[in-house]
Amino acid sequence: MKLKKNIALIAHDNLKDDMIEWSKTHYVKLSTFELFATGTTGKRIEDVTGLPITKYKSGPLGGDQQIGAGIAEGRINAVVFFWDPLAPHPHDVDVKALLRIAAVYNIPMACNKATADLIINGL
Ligand code: PGA
Repeated sequence: MKLKKNIALIAHDNLKDDMIEWSKTHYVKLSTFELFATGTTGKRIEDVTGLPITKYKSGPLGGDQQIGAGIAEGRINAVVFFWDPLAPHPHDVDVKALLRIAAVYNIPMACNKATADLIINGL
């Protein structure tokens, strides 16, 4: 059976630089995945790494929900989500819904760099 490696990448604004660094560090591994991302995160990673990324809407405009739908429909099998626990977000309910749907479908989901480092090597 072919292991599906479709991973979604999301970073809140204060953590986008961290996500860029993380995606550069794991460039070789990420290049073996089909990549999805919310709009701004995806564009920034694509600009720096050249990796092809399917970009959804920006998070506050529904991108988190699109990634949640991808999980429910089996198109996304893992998520790296650098969410910012120190800033308020207009789309807080969408963030919560995404965390919930990832738990419902029992997919690997990293919410910080330490966990992302672990799961990227385990996938
Ligand atoms: P963005 O969305 O990548 O478009 O900034 C991320 C988010 O805020 O959830």
